[in-house]
Amino acid sequence: MLTLRNVTKIYSSKHGSSTKALCDVTLDFPDTGMVFLLGRSGSGKSTMLNIIGGLDTPTEGELIVDGRSSRTFWETDLDSYRNTYVGFVFQEYNLMDGYTVGRNVSLALDLQGRRGAAERVDDILRRVGLADRFGNTFARRYPGELSGGQKQRVAIARALVKDPKIILADEPTGALDFRTGEQLYELLKQLSADKLVIVVTHDEDAARKYGDRIIELADGEVASDTGPQPEERDNGDGAAFVASRLPLRRTLAMGLAGFAARPIRLIVSVLLSVVALAAFGIVVTVATVNETDIILGSMYERDMRMLTVRGSYAEDTPEIVEEYIGVPPMRVYSPANMNIHISTDAYVPMDSFSLGLLCTGEIPYFAELDPDYGEGDARLTPDDRFEDASLCRLPEKEGEIAITDLQASMFMEFGYRGADGRITEISCPDDLIGKTLVRGTETGLDETVYTICGVYSTEIDREDVEAFDYIYNDEEEDYYASYYTEGIGYSIMSYAFVAKGESASDGVFGGMIKMSGDADRDAAFLHGLEYSEGGRNYEIRITTPISIFMSPPMAFRTYGAVPCAIVAAIMAVFSILLMASSLTASLNMKSRKLGVLRALGAGKPDIFAICLVESVAVALLEMILTSVAVPIMCAAFNSIFYVSLLFFGVGAFFAVFGLCFGSAALSTVLPVAKLMRKKPVDIIAGR
Ligand code: ADP
Ligand code: MG
Repeated sequence: MLTLRNVTKIYSSKHGSSTKALCDVTLDFPDTGMVFLLGRSGSGKSTMLNIIGGLDTPTEGELIVDGRSSRTFWETDLDSYRNTYVGFVFQEYNLMDGYTVGRNVSLALDLQGRRGAAERVDDILRRVGLADRFGNTFARRYPGELSGGQKQRVAIARALVKDPKIILADEPTGALDFRTGEQLYELLKQLSADKLVIVVTHDEDAARKYGDRIIELADGEVASDTGPQPEERDNGDGAAFVASRLPLRRTLAMGLAGFAARPIRLIVSVLLSVVALAAFGIVVTVATVNETDIILGSMYERDMRMLTVRGSYAEDTPEIVEEYIGVPPMRVYSPANMNIHISTDAYVPMDSFSLGLLCTGEIPYFAELDPDYGEGDARLTPDDRFEDASLCRLPEKEGEIAITDLQASMFMEFGYRGADGRITEISCPDDLIGKTLVRGTETGLDETVYTICGVYSTEIDREDVEAFDYIYNDEEEDYYASYYTEGIGYSIMSYAFVAKGESASDGVFGGMIKMSGDADRDAAFLHGLEYSEGGRNYEIRITTPISIFMSPPMAFRTYGAVPCAIVAAIMAVFSILLMASSLTASLNMKSRKLGVLRALGAGKPDIFAICLVESVAVALLEMILTSVAVPIMCAAFNSIFYVSLLFFGVGAFFAVFGLCFGSAALSTVLPVAKLMRKKPVDIIAGR
C-alpha cells in the first residue's frame, strides 16, 4: 500500500519566486485498481505523480511504501524504489529510438540485473497487443516504424516487464487519437486487476468510464476524491528494493552507442586531440631527454661499445668505476691538465674523432693504462686491419702511446709526415708501430716525443663517422687544421682508461671505457657517475661522436625550458578543452536518454559508468594514436639529426597518459555530476 502523508511541494525558481505545486496532501492508495488524477493544467498532477514515482522528492511530508517512509530512504533507495516498484509511462513515450522494441523492453530488466529473456519480452509484447495475427511480436522493429499508439504500448510493455506494483502514466493518451486512447485505457484497466495504476489525464469521460477512483486536484490541493479509501492494513514486512545494476555489456553498448551516431564529429575531435597530445608528448619528450641514455641508446643502435667519459671526480668515483670494470682505476688527473693536446710532429689533418690516444708515462692528462685491464669481453681489440696483430700492444713504459683506429684511418688516408717533412704512405696499422708523435708546444708544455706501440679499435662504425663528417665538415683544406689548433675537438676520444690519481673531489676524471654491452648495467654505471655522492648532481660528459649532436637539443632544453613549458601548457589546455567540448556535446545529445534511464530506475553509478565508457574509449583511442604518432615524429627527428636522440620514454608516456585520461575523467565527471543533480523528469524535459 502506498500513502502520501502531508505532502507539500514547493518549487523555487532561480529568480527567487516559488510555486506551491502541492499543499499538504494526504492520500492513501490501494494495492490494485485504476486511479485517475484530474485537474487543470498547473494544478499539481505531474508533481504528485513524480513524487509517487520517486522522480521527485517532497519539500515536506512523506511517501510511505509498504510501511517504509521516504524519510528513511537514501537517495540510492529512491533509485531502487523506482527500479523495483514503479513502471512509468510518459506522454511522449520516451523510447530509445536506436534500440529495437525488444531491447527497449528488456532494458528495464537489465536495470534490475536480470537477463532480458526473449520469451518474457515476447509474452509482454503479446499482452500489450504488439503482435501480428500470426503471433509474431514487434520485438525486432524499431520505434520509428510504429504508430503513436503502438509506441505507447511499447512504453507500457517496458513498464510491465519488471512486474512493478505500481504503474504511473502521465497523460499517456495526450498524443493519441480518441480510438487509440480508448484502447490504451482498456489495456491499463486490464493491468489494474493486479496492480495499482495511476493515470493523469484531462479526459474526464475516460476517467468516469475506466476509473475505480477519481481524484481531482486544484491549485495543489485535493478538490475532490471519489474514494473509496482503502482500509488501513498492516504492512509491517517493509519494502524490499532491488538496487539497479546495469550489466557491463549493456553499459559498454550504451557508452559506445554515441560513436556510431556521430562518427565524423568523433574522428575530427579525436584527430585534433591527437595533434595536441602529440605536440604535448614531443615537448615533454624533449624536455625530459636524458643525455646519457640517449648516448647509450645511440651507441647500442650502432653496435658501438667504446665510450670516452669525462666528468667531475668525486670520492666514490673510483669505487663506481672499479665495480664496473672489475679492477681499480689507476689515476685521476686534475682539471688544470685537461685542456692539453697531443699533436703529431708533422702536420697531420685530424678529424674530430681521431684524437683517441692511449699512452703511459708522464703525460699528465691521459690516464695511465693498466696493461692487465680488460679481461675477456672488456678487453680492447687491436685494429682489425693489422696484418700482424702481435705488433699491437698497450703502452708499457714511458714515452709509449697507443692510438685509436680512427686516428690510424686518418694516417692511412693522409699519410704520416715525419720529422724531416717527408710523407710516408701508411697502408695498414702495422706501418704505424714505432712511428713517433710529438706533443706540441702550443699546449704550453714542453715538447715530448711518443712512440706508437698499438692501434686499438673504437668500434665506431666507419659509415657513421663519414656521415658525421658529412654533416659537420665543410671539406675545406684548412678545416682539420683549424679544428685542431682551435682545440674544439680536444676531448673527443682523447682519454685513455679511467684512472685513479691523487686529486680530490674537485678533480676531473676521464677515460675510455669499453661498455659491457648489458644495457641496464651500462646505464646504471653511467648514471652512478652522474649522480653519485648522495644526489650531488654533477654532470658527466660523455664524449663520442654522438655527443656532438647532443648540443643543439641540449641547448634547446636548457634555453627552451620556459617556451617548452608554455607550449606544453597550451597544448594541454587545448586538448582538455577539445575533450571537454566533445564529451559535453555528446552528453547533451544523450541526456534525455540518460534521464529516461534514471526514470526507469538506473542509479547514478550506472549513468556515470555509461558516460565513462564513452570518455575512456575516446581517451584510449587518442592514447593509442598518440603513442604511435609521437615515436614516428621522434624517429623522423632522430633521422634528421642522425642520432637516436628522442625517445618517447616512460615519463613522457605517462604525462600524455595522465593528460589524456585525466581530461577525459574530468570532462565526464563534472558535467555528469551536474546533470545528475537534476531530477530525471527535468532532464527528460530538457529543463
Ligand atoms: P500539472 O501536471 O497539473 O499541469 P505540475 O505538477 O506540472 O502541474 O505543476 C504544478 C505547478 O508547479 C505549476 O505551477 C508548475 O509551473 C510548477 N512546476 C512544476 N514543475 C516545476 C519545476 N520543475 N520548477 C518550477 N516549477 C514547477
Ligand atoms: Mg502535467
